[in-house]
Amino acid sequence: MPPVNTPVDQPADNILVLSLASLRRRSDVVRRIQRTACLDDLATSVAHVPQGEVQLDLSVEVRGLDVVVSGQIETQWQAECRRCLEEVTGKIKLSVTEVFRSVNPEAPDQDLGDTFLFDGTPGDEMVSVEAVVRDAVLLALPLAPLCQENCQGPAPERFPAHTENEPIEQEAAPLKDPRWAALDGLRIDDEISPPDSVV
Ligand SMILES: [Zn+2]
Repeated sequence: MPPVNTPVDQPADNILVLSLASLRRRSDVVRRIQRTACLDDLATSVAHVPQGEVQLDLSVEVRGLDVVVSGQIETQWQAECRRCLEEVTGKIKLSVTEVFRSVNPEAPDQDLGDTFLFDGTPGDEMVSVEAVVRDAVLLALPLAPLCQENCQGPAPERFPAHTENEPIEQEAAPLKDPRWAALDGLRIDDEISPPDSVV
């Protein structure tokens, strides 16, 4: 069996990493990324994205020497309430606009502000849309989630453990078929009558 020629440096399996060269080859085309992606380790010490699953609706455009990634990112997060430790979930819907730019070789120390740098080596640069998504989601995850604004935390005197059972007991009573009430009456009569008949 001939060896399989696996191109090691090809990010073809990662649709969220695009070759700058191929973007520039068709710089008039706006690439759309509309898909669900699963990213590893999309979590902070407080909250995480289940399965790292994110819904993306992004555009990738070449503008001069820059590449602009913009659009929507949606995801869900899961965490523990910081007071009562109950599970808390929420949704994140983000609009992003991020610019990728090369370091100017003549001014390598210039302040690039909030721009992203191309990955890879000169001549083989990559645009990591994944980095944009990862940064945006990690920054949007809650730092101190609460199940509700006025969560009192675990406070037994305010929230006794048996409160959860009470509604169930109350609901159980009306479940009794009213037709049984007549039968109950008969039974009571039956119980009363035998002593009468014995005496
Ligand atoms: Zn809570």
